[in-house]
Amino acid sequence: MGQILDGKALADFKAVKLKLTVEKLRKQGTRPCFCVINIGEDPSSKIYLKTKKRRAAEIGIGQKVYQLKADVSQVELLALIAKLNRDDKVDGIMIQLPVPEQINLNEALEQIDPAKDVDCLTPSNVGRLWRGDHFVEPATAHGILALLDHYRINLRGKNVVIIGRSSIVGKPLAALMLERDATVSILHLQTSNLFEYTKRADIIVSAAGQAKLVTAAMIKPGAVIIDVGINRLDKQVVGDVDFASVAPKASYITPVPGGIGPLTVESLMEQVVKLARRKDGR
Ligand code: NAD
Repeated sequence: MGQILDGKALADFKAVKLKLTVEKLRKQGTRPCFCVINIGEDPSSKIYLKTKKRRAAEIGIGQKVYQLKADVSQVELLALIAKLNRDDKVDGIMIQLPVPEQINLNEALEQIDPAKDVDCLTPSNVGRLWRGDHFVEPATAHGILALLDHYRINLRGKNVVIIGRSSIVGKPLAALMLERDATVSILHLQTSNLFEYTKRADIIVSAAGQAKLVTAAMIKPGAVIIDVGINRLDKQVVGDVDFASVAPKASYITPVPGGIGPLTVESLMEQVVKLARRKDGR
């Protein structure tokens, strides 16, 4: 049976340390604060917002949610972003995904001040990520690397397969893993045979959003399995990995829930604090 990579325990441990950092900053007159723009009433977004709010409060970070109507116009959204860019008290700005169809997400992201871009999605920050001189990291990718580091799982020379090429998980994670000297393959819906890649992988990260996508037959014995997926199956939250069959064959594996999810939220808080310190030159 593979060892469980306990993301929840690591997130709780890191939150205690971060809280101390925030207390120190607050004594020096800096209160890290971030704003989330949520458009419409997506039920999953509501759950994520609640989790973020709770974690921010525990750590002592200020958080404000701007709830916009589902039919908000692009102009109104851009006006809000401009206002938050100008507000000195705001250290981080993020747009909660998904957004409704009338919103041009790329155009909106381009308007966020890169110094406040807590999700690392503005063009200049994405460029910096690939260039290797970034000052902010996307939360999920940051959390995955923190977990691998904690369990001393080295990436150098490893064959890594990432399933999913989204801008928030697959692509930034690939950039950060390349920086750590891994050989990275990114698979997606048009990849003709996942098995050909996964069978050779030392580390598999699945971020596809499809329950039971990764099965025991697809992995080599001793592989490290990171499950980012969050899916609902028979009223339960499950990942992309068929945990029962894969765990006995893996060397390490993340559970869902309790794996990457809590680390993503904690990592987001770390990025807010990082941006606040950067702004104040600390
Ligand atoms: P997305 O829909 O933007 O991207 C999914 C990607 O997976 C796409 O590139 C698609 O091509 C690929 N894909 C889907 N099915 C596939 C298949 N059968 N074979 C190969 N590739 C396939 O999703 P996202 O926003 O990146 O999120 C992915 C999953 O991760 C979702 O379940 C989401 O809820 C979860 N997620 C979890 C966390 C966390 O903190 N644990 C954070 C972000 C996203």
